[in-house]
Amino acid sequence: MVATKTGTATVCKLLVNGDWVDSTATEFQDIYNPSTGEIIGRTPLGGNADVDRAVQAAHKAFLEWKEVPIIERARVMFRFKNLMEQHYEAIAECVTREHGKTLPESKASVQRAIEVVEFACGIPSLMMGESMENIARNVDCETIRHPIGVCAGIAPFNFPAMVPLWMYPIALTCGNSFVLKPSEKVPLTSMMIANLLAEAGLPNGVFNIVHGGKDCVDALLTHPLIKAISFVGSTHIAKYIYTTGTANGKRVQAAGGAKNHIIIMPDADMEQTVQALQASAFGCAGERCMAGSLALPVGAAAEALIPHLVEASAKMKVGPTDGKGSAHPDMGPLVSKEHLEKVRGMINKGESEGAKVALDGRKIEAAKSSGFFLGPTILDHAKPEMSVVKEEIFGPVLSVVRVDSLEDALAIGRDCPYGNGAVIYTNSGRSAREFKHHFNAGMIGINVGVPAPMAWFPFTGWNASFYGDLHIQGSEGIQFYTQQKMTMTRWFEPSKSSKFQDPIWKPKN
Ligand code: NAD
Repeated sequence: MVATKTGTATVCKLLVNGDWVDSTATEFQDIYNPSTGEIIGRTPLGGNADVDRAVQAAHKAFLEWKEVPIIERARVMFRFKNLMEQHYEAIAECVTREHGKTLPESKASVQRAIEVVEFACGIPSLMMGESMENIARNVDCETIRHPIGVCAGIAPFNFPAMVPLWMYPIALTCGNSFVLKPSEKVPLTSMMIANLLAEAGLPNGVFNIVHGGKDCVDALLTHPLIKAISFVGSTHIAKYIYTTGTANGKRVQAAGGAKNHIIIMPDADMEQTVQALQASAFGCAGERCMAGSLALPVGAAAEALIPHLVEASAKMKVGPTDGKGSAHPDMGPLVSKEHLEKVRGMINKGESEGAKVALDGRKIEAAKSSGFFLGPTILDHAKPEMSVVKEEIFGPVLSVVRVDSLEDALAIGRDCPYGNGAVIYTNSGRSAREFKHHFNAGMIGINVGVPAPMAWFPFTGWNASFYGDLHIQGSEGIQFYTQQKMTMTRWFEPSKSSKFQDPIWKPKN
């Protein structure tokens, strides 16, 4: 059992040293099923006491785990991967239940999470150091990667399985122990997956879970035994995590928010672009850091694209998914009532600033239910200075700025404070190359709607979309969770005058 009942709602427990234990918290936050508005659990909002318990357990476990041969650590990941696959449906249903994604979207996100575990299974060869003979006469040099100690992960709400798994399979296989703080809005999936890690044979205390909000995060950021912090969330908090974590002597990788531009050239294949744009902007209800949220059709592309996009998007079915797969909407609800209100507020602001509401998701039938629904929304004729163009909305809202040239589109990109993803749709190699080289973002798609890298590539956000030096996932993930030790070795040749008599070597004449 991972939880206790208090009143009518189930309170989440912490995972400390292999046991599910009660938090010392006195404040709680409700967890919702966003499709129905029903409360399905409560998250304790813990602080120093909970964090210290978990970190002490993680520190003790680290001292033994780091000595476990790497191939045995990788074998735990192989078993974990098998268990993730066996429980794939149940994990996806849990994601849908607490987050609201449609079941196919949840399954796809669990698949991406499994891919990180697959990547981690290869860490024995990826973590190898470098060596060279004779860097000076008779002197050899090698570097070895060591784990760094207790690492912490702080996760956002939007991918309850995938984002935490960007972090800990890599950290653990490198020989670290881990304390995860899932989003207080969606902690249940992480708890379910933690049981699979234990079943895979991960020793007690190597992986721990704490729950909470700011107090809990602050306790992690300042705990002296924590060596590294991985964070994914909004930019404002990412910056805070980076400055506070590094001021407390920790390594930090902090991925923040985004505004992802999609440029459509007049020579693009419009039919395919409509489908891709729709999936990019409205998939996962727009609650994706790589969602296309700002379309920049160039010249005649606007008239060739926008009416078809509006027509296709208006047909999307928005509604509850029961988590069992019998209801098949194209789009689920937003995560919470507060987030729904925030996104609706931004649409209202965009409209009042002069954008034309070409498709109005505020008026859909499902919006009258107790779930947190908003339909696909398209704000056409937006201008670069409007809030819906400059700020992250993180909902199913696509703003459209019609531009005259690729250079105008690149200029809008240059003014954007974020730098996660950007995409171009074109049949021209020249336009694609120009865009790829000049666009001010770290993940580029050419006729690819959501260029989110696979697990063996780093998630290379730029500007205010990332604070730190080494990104999450891929080779940079391994570098982040390890420190290098360089050893230089010289063995003297015995000389004729030496009193030391080597039994094997004869001195050279
Ligand atoms: P959030 O920043 O509100 O919360 C993220 C985490 O920070 C949570 O665990 C939360 O408990 C903690 N937190 C919240 N307020 C805090 C505070 N004042 N002090 C310390 N910790 C605090 O983000 P969210 O709403 O859960 O997630 C959505 C955001 O995440 C979006 O901005 C999205 O773009 C971003 N995101 C980015 C990426 C990426 O790779 N760049 C991926 C997924 C999501």
